[in-house]
Amino acid sequence: MHELSVVASLVETIEALAGEHKAKSVTGVWIKVGPLSGVVPELLESAFEMYRKGTIVESARLSIEKTPLRAVCRACRVETERTDYAPDCPACGSTDLEIAGGTDLILERIELETDEPVSPAQ
Ligand SMILES: [Zn+2]
Repeated sequence: MHELSVVASLVETIEALAGEHKAKSVTGVWIKVGPLSGVVPELLESAFEMYRKGTIVESARLSIEKTPLRAVCRACRVETERTDYAPDCPACGSTDLEIAGGTDLILERIELETDEPVSPAQ
C-alpha cells in the first residue's frame, strides 16, 4: 500500500519536529490532502492506524482535511474548485485546464506535549 510509505515519511518528519521541541509525545496531527496528491484519505487514515503503534504519534489525534482541486481554464480563465477531477471547464467546456491546486499532501500542523514549563513573559 502506497499510503503506508507516505505515513512512514510523515511520522519521520513529525518525530524530527518533536525532537526539536523536546516533546514527549504528539497529541494531534493535521494533514491536508488534495484530490490529485495520489493519496486516498481513507487509506491514509488506515495506514496511520497500522503504523502508529510504538511511534511518537501513537496517541495522537489524526485529522485529515480534503482540499479541493483548483483548475484554471486556459481558454476563458474561469477558475473552478471541485472535489473530484473533471476534465472540462464548466463555463466554456474547454478541456485545456491548468491545475492550480489540489496536488499536494501537506502536514499542516502538529500539537506537541512537552515537559518544558511555559516561559514567563519577559
Ligand atoms: Zn473555460
